[in-house]
Amino acid sequence: MILQIALDMPLRRVFDYSWPPDVAAAMPALATGRGAPPLGVRVRVPFGRRQVIGVLVGTALESAVAANKLKAAIEILDERPVFDPVTFELLRWAADYYHHPLGEVIAAALPVSLRDGQAADDIVESWVLSAPGREELERPTNRRAAQQRALLAWLAEHAPATAERIRAHWKPGLLRALAERGWATATRSAASVAPLAAFEVRPSEVTLTEAQDQVVGAMNASFGRFAAYLLYGVTGSGKTEVYLRVIAAAIAAGGQALVLVPEIGLTPQLVARFRERFSAGVAVLHSALTGTDRRDAWRAAHAGQARIVIGTRSAVFTSLPRLALIVVDEEHDASYKQHEGFRYSARDLAVWRAQRAHVPIILGSATPSLETLENVAQARYSQLLLPQRPGAARPPHMALVDLRKHGSEQGLSQPAMQAIKQHLTAGGQVIVFLNRRGYAPSLFCNACGWVAPCAHCDARMTLHRRAARLRCHHCGATAPVPLTCGNCGQPLHPVGQGTERVEETLARLFPDAPLARLDRDTATGRGAMEVVLNRVHSGEARILVGTQMLTKGHHFPEVSLVVILDADQGLFASDYRATERLAQTITQVAGRAGRAARAGEVLIQTEFPEHPLLTRLIAEGYAGFAASALEERRQAEWPPFSRLAMLRAEAKDTAGLDGFLQAAAHGGRAWSDSAVKILGPAPALIARRADHFRAHLLIESAARGALQRFLARWLPQVETLPGPSGLRWSIDVDPLEVD
Ligand code: ADP
Ligand code: ZN
Ligand code: ZN
Repeated sequence: MILQIALDMPLRRVFDYSWPPDVAAAMPALATGRGAPPLGVRVRVPFGRRQVIGVLVGTALESAVAANKLKAAIEILDERPVFDPVTFELLRWAADYYHHPLGEVIAAALPVSLRDGQAADDIVESWVLSAPGREELERPTNRRAAQQRALLAWLAEHAPATAERIRAHWKPGLLRALAERGWATATRSAASVAPLAAFEVRPSEVTLTEAQDQVVGAMNASFGRFAAYLLYGVTGSGKTEVYLRVIAAAIAAGGQALVLVPEIGLTPQLVARFRERFSAGVAVLHSALTGTDRRDAWRAAHAGQARIVIGTRSAVFTSLPRLALIVVDEEHDASYKQHEGFRYSARDLAVWRAQRAHVPIILGSATPSLETLENVAQARYSQLLLPQRPGAARPPHMALVDLRKHGSEQGLSQPAMQAIKQHLTAGGQVIVFLNRRGYAPSLFCNACGWVAPCAHCDARMTLHRRAARLRCHHCGATAPVPLTCGNCGQPLHPVGQGTERVEETLARLFPDAPLARLDRDTATGRGAMEVVLNRVHSGEARILVGTQMLTKGHHFPEVSLVVILDADQGLFASDYRATERLAQTITQVAGRAGRAARAGEVLIQTEFPEHPLLTRLIAEGYAGFAASALEERRQAEWPPFSRLAMLRAEAKDTAGLDGFLQAAAHGGRAWSDSAVKILGPAPALIARRADHFRAHLLIESAARGALQRFLARWLPQVETLPGPSGLRWSIDVDPLEVD
């Protein structure tokens, strides 16, 4: 028998190996006659001069590799697959759909320690009362051992309990004392077959609103089958509370829930909210975890012991044998799409997974993506609404400030300054939003018009004053700040505003109001973001300046004013998704105001107050904007009314790059039918980055199937095309950005 192994390599193929020579050593279970290994187990194989670990994805009777060239596998590491069946199917489907090598897809789903061969299954110790223990509890013989008897009583109620859980609740040593007296006994077993650890759901302090109650009721009626729901709730409408209730119901019967959150949304506050509600079994998975934490969380999920897995996008691949519910919070968030390597959409894969696993999925957002809204319009998803904030909280009042009419100081208009003063005086907190970090986006010479450029990109350097450096936000290059113009020697001036400069201006205008700043420069490093957020939560900081990091899920009850400094970035961008992103950002930032008792006010500064996007957003809210934006997409035949893929390429040699893309386009056009259009080559928006020229082809089709068939035939052809040295290219199916 031939073993087909997916290896973690950038090659769109699997590798054939013959059966390990010593089967008994390779896999004891097989030697005892249990037959072929199941697909999805890890196998150690020779590769060149190394040994590597891959995953068995198929078996065959014959191989195209000559028998004398075929190498034997060394060892089969698992008796059971390392993925539940649906996840394994998901990985294979995703590799196909995104046209990415299966071995890399599988590797992305496994923690490093498992890729390195550590055991997939954890051993757990479960404790129960013994007969003497039960006897002791009913008729105490040893009155002095009060604490031990208390543990006995607890164990009678909570057994089987893992050693870990007992240690979390009881003094060290107590369990050992019980064991020594023979009152409690343990069984050690693989976590996947061990009894499920018990846990409690602590009651919530809030009474659901009628709308929340209806949503929870609808969800609770849908367990055990696939159904997709858009939970469309304005910011602060209590979506998280709904998730918690529905999850409680989903896991009550032994199920597992998968909760996906955006990268920046996975805050300690959110995790704490889950841990408060559920006494045990909450596992957290994100990229910043240490190797062991990640492995343990993964194992607990794979064993069915972790009842709730909260994670960022890659958590969609977590093995969850008892999956009963999926939640995707802030489903519109761009961080669900991986932007390099294996370019998958975790949100889309989550829906696929729910369908295969026959479980319901909730996509929550205050600003749903246009794709999801179209899925609702087509009745593929059901919509559940939370139109209001609970209690006294009301939606904020939104207004535009015409920057052409009002004087401004470093980007801050007179009306905005006045409003900030008023709200501070009234005891409210203020958020000032600007999606640009650094001090100033360019350093400019008034005399000759020279602007400090990045030496490696077609882009300007951003001035970072505190760090006293110029930084390129596209390639990361840094340079000292020049004192004079590189061209004519005259002095240079910072032009425009970044968050650092806004912070400086606010500090000068409002010297009595302590400031906090949240952007990638202040929130790098472990816990740095928490320090900033805590200063806001504690009320110490009165004004919070920040970038889009502010938009994600934060709940600041005392914030009463939000000022959006520059709404115009994105109004005229070439990317067809730019307006959607802008509307979502404005709505999400605005949603930070007035989330509790204080009434909220939002000021949006713009030079284009008549722009239909802005006027519609103010008059009709996000829903009004979305309806007209969808109509525009329909007219223009952009997604979701068509399907796209991008072939992006980069190389140092611009002519070679163009030649490669021309040849790729030409090759495809030679045989593709009219169902697929190949547009380009076109240069990327930043046509040179980090010394590489960048360009792309856009592939468009009205139908997903036609696009998929085209890519499946075309990409192997593209792989054989010659290109300039150092050429890199990639395929992006359902790209989020097309420039
Ligand atoms: P969202 O996830 O939609 O932004 P949250 O679930 O975080 O909203 O709720 C916002 C705030 O409202 C939280 O402080 C939450 O505890 C509170 N809240 C949620 N539901 C209720 C309710 N039914 N009654 C009172 N307060 C609620
Ligand atoms: Zn000059
Ligand atoms: Zn650069």
